[in-house]
Amino acid sequence: MGDICMKVLSTRDRRLEMPALEAVLEGIAGNGGLFVPERFPTIDKERLTRAARSGYPEVAAYILAQYFDIDEATLLTLAKDAYASFTTPEVVPVRKIANNLHVMELFHGPTLAFKDMALQVLPRLMRAGLDQFHRKEDALILTATSGDTGKAALEGFRDVPRTSVFVFYPHDGVAEMQRLQMATQKGNNVGVSAVKGNFDDAQTGVKRLFMDKDFARYVKNAGYFLSSANSINIGRLVPQIAYYCHAYAKLAEDGTVRYGDKVNFVVPTGNFGNILAAYYAKNMGLPIGKLICASNTNNVLTDFFNRGKYDARREFHKTMSPSMDILVSSNLERLLFEICDRDSAIVQGWMDALRDRGSYDIPAAAREKLAGEFYADFCDDIETGKTIRRIFEQHKYLMDPHTAVAQAVCDKYRKDTGDETPVVVVSTANPYKFTPDVWQSLSGETISDAFAAAEKLYERTGVPIPASIRELKTAPILHDGVAEKDAMGDAVDTFLKRHG
Ligand SMILES: *Cc1c(COP(=O)(O)O)cnc(C)c1O
Repeated sequence: MGDICMKVLSTRDRRLEMPALEAVLEGIAGNGGLFVPERFPTIDKERLTRAARSGYPEVAAYILAQYFDIDEATLLTLAKDAYASFTTPEVVPVRKIANNLHVMELFHGPTLAFKDMALQVLPRLMRAGLDQFHRKEDALILTATSGDTGKAALEGFRDVPRTSVFVFYPHDGVAEMQRLQMATQKGNNVGVSAVKGNFDDAQTGVKRLFMDKDFARYVKNAGYFLSSANSINIGRLVPQIAYYCHAYAKLAEDGTVRYGDKVNFVVPTGNFGNILAAYYAKNMGLPIGKLICASNTNNVLTDFFNRGKYDARREFHKTMSPSMDILVSSNLERLLFEICDRDSAIVQGWMDALRDRGSYDIPAAAREKLAGEFYADFCDDIETGKTIRRIFEQHKYLMDPHTAVAQAVCDKYRKDTGDETPVVVVSTANPYKFTPDVWQSLSGETISDAFAAAEKLYERTGVPIPASIRELKTAPILHDGVAEKDAMGDAVDTFLKRHG
């Protein structure tokens, strides 16, 4: 058994609680809130150090055991399985690319983006939960994606018994490689549809289906219960804590820091899931200094941290870092819960204001508390492109656009603050997912064909083209549906009729 049975509770009503593993099945809390741990367990220095010496799955199992009531040996098998498909033996390498500049690479999984870190674990946790809680119905996973989650969810759940997965992505809102990855998805329990709208439309549509009682009844009659693979699922958050712990332990092991010294992390941020996992790691005692929140031109979070106002009423920009093109960052709600001292009524008030007026303000005291832990800035596409080029020219290291946003904000942070604390830039995608933009940034040349751009990139940089990218070129298109944003339920209906 895990040492304890950790409960989770809803950000909008603390009395709504359940075991963490059960919350993995539920996805979102019944009252629209998000599940958060009842308390933060403490990381043991010796245990973490030992686990990190053994390997990444050992660290993952150690962290998972702090939250889920599954014995640690079983969790180790689960983690080894989950990360077996990763293409590097370290799973998450931390590379030193310059003096006092490390990059943590989270993109060596089957879909080439950091979402695999959690989405290879989540289906396995769900399967364990279906047994532990004697669920009769199977899980139907509904997910909205800004590009990378969708493919990672499809790949994670593909052919997992007692689960089906349906993914919505914004039509015209994802990169060509991302679209092809989803449109060619194989598996007997998978469905994919584009939505006429942007990511927020897709996400809002999925949330609406979750709240729709008629839809829930319909799904139940079909033999399913609804769950989510979005980053609001606590089963995605917890596996992400592990890589911050692992990276820290590795830096301590190689002498970059002494265990106990602080390390800063720069995180390219969209839905606020990745950086929230770092914040959880810090709350568990990992010696993290500043968490640097990097946004693209959709800089709603930058304004939130710097001005204390979350204001989603603004123009939506399509950028070359599409997985961060988000105006409503769902996971922020979990941070709000902490900064108002876990007062769910306050969180509920802010979320109501966001729904009704598109904005909310936090008091000055809360903003100051945040300023002690976070730093936030953004960069536009021009600067992103320049950063890709500069880092390649100076260090022969090729960054994808999301990682380059983080790098650019990292540079601003250092210039602005003079802080010389060791820093880790979190790298979230393989550059070959975004070849036309990466090639354009490097060479100034426009090639719209994603595969031709990949060849050019390879010639110029020598960075190998991943096999899964090569295979996309000839893989048959299996999913080509496009749904209106108020008809997303019908798309699921059609899918269930075909597969149920
Ligand atoms: C999802 C994603 C992000 C944003 O992560 P959040 O957890 O949503 O903040 C950044 N980069 C890439 C490549 C992603 O796939």
